[in-house]
Amino acid sequence: MNIKKGDSVSVISGNDRGKVAKVLHVFPNNNRLIVEGVNMMKKHSRPTQRNPKGGIITKEGTIHRSNVQVYCSSCHSPTRVSQKLVDSKGSRNEKIRCCRLCGAEL
Ligand SMILES: [Zn+2]
Repeated sequence: MNIKKGDSVSVISGNDRGKVAKVLHVFPNNNRLIVEGVNMMKKHSRPTQRNPKGGIITKEGTIHRSNVQVYCSSCHSPTRVSQKLVDSKGSRNEKIRCCRLCGAEL
């Protein structure tokens, strides 16, 4: 999984195709994500203490990671991620994620 919480992603299929939004949650176990404002689902809820009226709430549903692409903020396009090893100060090389189109660090 090379998508992380906080990344901007572009949705490439479904009703929300073309939307660019932020990743709110990542579920690595099943390769699913929650993206802000994408795949909104209506949920009927009973009255609770927190929400005494109950009613319909809308909430983001999960989408599969194959339905989104990481969005590069430097070249403003959906891209694939490449990984680059860079020398860091320590003895170990550090892996950074880069845009495959423009090479900018993500
Ligand atoms: Zn780029």
